[in-house]
Amino acid sequence: MSDTSSCIFCKIIRGELPCTKVYESKELIAFMDINPMNKGHVLIVPRQHAETLFDLDNSIAEPVFRAMREIGRAIMIATGADGLNVIQNNGEAAWQQVPHVHWHLIPRFRGDGYKPWGQKKYDTLEEMQDLASCIQKQL
Ligand code: 5GP
Ligand code: ZN
Repeated sequence: MSDTSSCIFCKIIRGELPCTKVYESKELIAFMDINPMNKGHVLIVPRQHAETLFDLDNSIAEPVFRAMREIGRAIMIATGADGLNVIQNNGEAAWQQVPHVHWHLIPRFRGDGYKPWGQKKYDTLEEMQDLASCIQKQL
């Protein structure tokens, strides 16, 4: 689904659905996540409807980066967090639920119960190097 008329975040941006806003600019809006991973979890959402990172214009990079730093710092102070995760999901396989690109700013607290994601191993060094050259060829 990549339709602005039914997109939940486009509806929030147009003011058709409510949100608890913390910041807005001409490029983006930031509001509280309705089901926070921890209290203080904020979403940064570009006004441009793009499904994933790969559909966005590069011009959004600077405003998003600035918002991540400024809002992230504000969340940490306001919540007394010990750390902050910035997470951005692309595609259902990567846990994207809302197909309008966004960044999660999640305050983290020592002992908040979340575990680091799992890690795998390459079978051989060559396997890792071959994959690296496949990626390089696509750049
Ligand atoms: P995703 O899995 O797509 O990266 O994250 C989507 C996020 O949007 C979830 O954390 C979810 O709680 C949040 N969300 C979904 N619907 C709404 C909504 O209507 N309002 C707000 N404020 N957040 C929402
Ligand atoms: Zn949208």
